[in-house]
Formats: sequence, structure tokens, C-alpha cells
Amino acid sequence: MIPRTIFSSEHEAFRDTVRRFIEEYVVPNHAAWEKAGEVPRDLWLKAGELGLLCCNVPEEYGGMGGDFLHSAILIEEMARAGATGPTFYLHSDIVAPYLVDFGTEDQKQKWLPKMATGEVVVALGMTEPSGGSDVQAMRTQALRDGDEYVINGQKVWITNGHTADLLLLACKTDPKARAKGVSLILVETNRPGFSRGRKLEKIGCKAQDTAELFFADVRVPVTNLIGEEGSGFKLLMTQLAQERLVQAIRGVSSSEAALQWTIDYVVDRKMFGHTLADFQNTRFKLAELRAELLAQRVFVDRCIELHLKGELDATDAAASKLITTELQGRVMDQCLQFFGGWGYSLEYPIARAFLDARMCRIGGGTAEVMKQIIANSMLPKVSKPS
Ligand SMILES: Cc1cc2nc3c(=O)[nH]c(=O)nc-3n(C[C@H](O)[C@H](O)[C@H](O)COP(=O)(O)OP(=O)(O)OC[C@H]3O[C@@H](n4cnc5c(N)ncnc54)[C@H](O)[C@@H]3O)c2cc1C
Repeated sequence: MIPRTIFSSEHEAFRDTVRRFIEEYVVPNHAAWEKAGEVPRDLWLKAGELGLLCCNVPEEYGGMGGDFLHSAILIEEMARAGATGPTFYLHSDIVAPYLVDFGTEDQKQKWLPKMATGEVVVALGMTEPSGGSDVQAMRTQALRDGDEYVINGQKVWITNGHTADLLLLACKTDPKARAKGVSLILVETNRPGFSRGRKLEKIGCKAQDTAELFFADVRVPVTNLIGEEGSGFKLLMTQLAQERLVQAIRGVSSSEAALQWTIDYVVDRKMFGHTLADFQNTRFKLAELRAELLAQRVFVDRCIELHLKGELDATDAAASKLITTELQGRVMDQCLQFFGGWGYSLEYPIARAFLDARMCRIGGGTAEVMKQIIANSMLPKVSKPS
């Protein structure tokens, strides 16, 4: 294996803490959370106590003052354990950066310390029933009325939607405009007029609470606006590079774990007087997956390095999400096959990983949207779809 060089010994010590946390608090309980369709608040509080939430938020706002490598470690270890329920990455590495980078001092002081302890759990509300890929076409409106915005509309597929105390909501402050009409607004979920619909029944990621959200004349103060009015689309585009890198890290790490479970299984499984590992088909298929994963691991580590310097652009981040999640799909499918019927049993982690992986080519921007971003960076733009 080409050695990984991005982490210091201090980071590796942090990894030990993360692994102990996962072994003690996550692994024994994940199946129960899958049945419940959500993760209890106690887990968030425990993670907060151990400094695992908002790792790279500055200490003055209650974070650990770490860097993105601390986040990467938590993301990797959760993915390796198949722990898709606790969505710490969404809270700490997708929503928190909007507050850190674009929030006012008051917003940072009010929310970040409680996000770091787990007292406040957050969600990101972008997708609507009418579509998620075409962000500029969203319909949820926040219209100004004096010192308040009045919000009306609906969101769907919102991770943490049932448990969140605070939403980072993407909505139209100018419904006639496309990109320039989009703003980002913080919405406390105890505001009158806000309600949550059903928890969506999904094929995988079952411990994640994924909800529909409704807004009927929800009033929030204008001080809840993040950045400037109409800047929401631009801010989203800035932060989506990190979101896509997060998905790429998850993709490679869960694929590596699945490959290891499969190696352990085929070495043990006996048939026709041999082990499953003795067959050339097994050896070659696993060798191919290993070679592809090795290349992706090196690529993703390079993307992390660039991101730490603020140099990872949206196109390369899209490429990292595209190729890692597509390989993840192939790894899970091929690895499941080696388990035979047991691969079809949810008692085996490979079956859950197979189902969980399917969302990775959809959530956080679909594979097709990633291809559009990459294509637009190298070809003339087309005004009509082909
Ligand atoms: C488990 C899960 C969790 C999620 N969590 C969140 C969350 O926390 N917050 C949130 O806001 N959203 C969340 N989402 C929503 C997710 O981001 C959207 O599902 C995704 O962006 C796609 O939007 P859509 O489902 O409306 O599909 P659509 O946008 O309707 O897309 C349908 C199909 O059209 C394709 N398509 C779109 N554009 C193009 C194009 N230009 N060229 C070719 N094909 C195209 C898509 O790739 C897709 O195959 C989550 C989704 C899932 C499944």
C-alpha cells in the first residue's frame, strides 16, 4: 500500500479516540437505531463531550480548533464501521462551515458552541419535491416583511430533518430571479408555522432520519440571513466542493472496509475442497478492486491536501465524488456476490453497505450533475439539454 502521508501523529492519536468512540457507542447500537429510524440525542452529546463535533471550528466558538484532517478521520472511521446513522459530517463539515465562513459574529456565538456540544443538531434544507438538481428553480420563498422574513414552502429528503433544532434553509428571497434570488436563512425548528412530515422510508441509511419539512408563514428575524440577500447560490457553490470531498472520503473508506470484509470471508469459506480465495475469479476480481481503490485513495488524499490549502476547485471535487461513489457501487455489488446468499442477509454488513452505498450517487449532487460540472469545465456550455 502506498503510505498515506497527510496525517501527523497527533491526528493518528485522534483517530484512536474516534475508533474507541465508535466501538463503544456506535457499533453496539446501530442496528437498534436503524429500527428506530434515528439516532438518539445522547449520542450527539457524547460525541460533543469527546470533541468529535465541529472539530475544525475555532476554539473561540466552542470547536476543537482542528483542521479538515480531523474531520476526514471521523468521516473515514464512521464510513469504515458502516455507521451511516450518525450524520456528524453533515452537521460539522457541511453546515457548520457556512456559519464559520459567512455567519455574523452574533450567529457564530449563538449557534456554534451549542453545535459543538451536540445540544443543537442542524440540517441543510435545499431539495424540494419539484426537484433537487436544479437548485436555482427552488420554490420555497422567504419574503421580507419589516424586520422579518416570512417563509412558505416545502423541503424533502432532509437528513436530520426530524431531529434538527436548526435548519440552514436555501430559499428564494426574490422568486422571479434564478440564482440571484436564492438566499440562505437560519430557521429554528421551534418557530410557529414550521412542521415536519413523515420520516421517509428508504432502502438504506435507515438510521438516518430523513424528513419532509413544511413552512407556513414561518417568521424569522432578518438577522437570521447568512451572508447577503441573493448570495445563497454563490455561497452554496463555494461550500459544495467540501461537501463533495466529504462524500468522496466516505466512498473510498466504506469501499476499503467492504473489500477487507470480503477478503476475510473468502479466505475462510470452503467449497470443492478449496477456499473461495483459491479460485482465480476471486483473486482477479479482488485484485482489480484493490488496484482501483488504491489509485482512488491516493487521489482523494491529494484532494484533501489541496483542500487544506484552499486550492481544491469545484470541478476536481465533483470528479472525486463521481469516481469514488461509482467505484463504491461496483465494490459493494461485487463483494456482496462473494458472500453468496449471506450477502443478501441484512445480518451481514456487506448487505447494509450495498444498500447504503446506493444513495451516494444521488445525495449531495447526483452522478449526472457531477458529470455536468466536469463537462462544463472543459467544453463550451450548451443552452439546451441533449
Ligand atoms: C438519503 C438521502 C439524503 C438526502 N439528504 C439531503 C439533505 O440533507 N438536504 C437536501 O437538501 N437534500 C438531500 N437529499 C436530496 C438529494 O440531494 C437529491 O435527491 C438530489 O440532489 C437529486 O434531486 P432529486 O431527487 O430531486 O432528483 P432530480 O433532480 O429530479 O433528478 C432526477 C434525475 O435527473 C438527473 N439529472 C438532473 N440534472 C441532470 C442533467 N443536467 N443532465 C442529465 N441528467 C440530469 C439526475 O441525475 C437524476 O438521475 C438527500 C437524498 C437522499 C436520497
